[in-house]
Amino acid sequence: MINLNAELKEVKTAGIAGHIRPDGDCVGSCIGLYLYLKKYFPEIKTEVYLEEFPEAFRFLEGSDQVQHNCDQTKEYDVFFCLDCGDEKRLGNAVKYFNTAKKTICIDHHISNQAFAQVNYIVPDASSTSELIFNLLEETKITKEMAEALYMGIAHDTGVFKFSNTSSRTMEIAGKLMDKGIDFSTIVDDTYFIKSYIQNQIMGRAMLESIMMLDGRVIFSAIRQKDMDFYGVGTMDLDGIVQQLRNTRGVEAALFLYETAPQEYKVSMRSNGKIDVSQIACYFGGGGHVKAAGCTMQGSVYDVVNNLVKHIDKQLKQIKVTN
Ligand code: AMP
Ligand code: MN
Ligand code: MN
Repeated sequence: MINLNAELKEVKTAGIAGHIRPDGDCVGSCIGLYLYLKKYFPEIKTEVYLEEFPEAFRFLEGSDQVQHNCDQTKEYDVFFCLDCGDEKRLGNAVKYFNTAKKTICIDHHISNQAFAQVNYIVPDASSTSELIFNLLEETKITKEMAEALYMGIAHDTGVFKFSNTSSRTMEIAGKLMDKGIDFSTIVDDTYFIKSYIQNQIMGRAMLESIMMLDGRVIFSAIRQKDMDFYGVGTMDLDGIVQQLRNTRGVEAALFLYETAPQEYKVSMRSNGKIDVSQIACYFGGGGHVKAAGCTMQGSVYDVVNNLVKHIDKQLKQIKVTN
């Protein structure tokens, strides 16, 4: 574990950034740390960078101070990379990582190769927000910081349901609840409630899903023209791969959306036997054993066939070792 006070000694400027296409844990951990540094280290000029994130996260205090463009040239004394498995995933903020005097990575991706100078990486942790909680002095955590961290933990654990949820996770969630947050509304408004068009595109993805390998793999794809038709953006596709995985008998769910002609962002989820992180890493991406992603070129069928080959190989290996 790292010691925040020691790391911030004599620091005058600090930058914080998370991964591209920020999710709940990424935004929650970045804002949680940002609010803490602003309040308890006022002598440090702290700035936070994130790509555009869902409107529902805007209730978080400090979310209006998040910067979305990295055009200025800056050299931070310390630069924090949160919830980010590799340098590429920092997006444009990588330039601040490259120029910073000291870099600190706090993360829980199994694919993380400890790319910063100082690394606090715990693949078993539910979320980066949980790791941020560990670094902060508990009594100093305000309600606003607790809201950000609770949101992050709730999102990355599928609301305390995935196997990355530990008794420690629940203990931390309880401590955050004690700060007086409206935990029920946070979960509803940021995780469960979908807009009408989000539900429509989800329905479309379910309707067009295809089972493969005798029902052990399910896949669905959304093309750019479908997104245009429904008027949705990539941020509206959250939760689709999770819903695909909730299909009885399925070992792995694959969801693809088109990012450019012949280019797809792949999201993979496993129900336990398949290590999707291994497959994502093979194709230049990364993630966790049960949730991982990458970007691949080709037609939908090229992409799916390539992925399914790897899943089939893993399933055969499991059979052999059993
Ligand atoms: P997603 O399917 O986009 O929700 O991602 C699942 C997990 O894999 C998340 O923890 C992501 O941070 C990680 N991930 C997704 N895409 C990539 C990628 N291209 N490279 C590395 N990690 C990724
Ligand atoms: Mn994330
Ligand atoms: Mn995370």
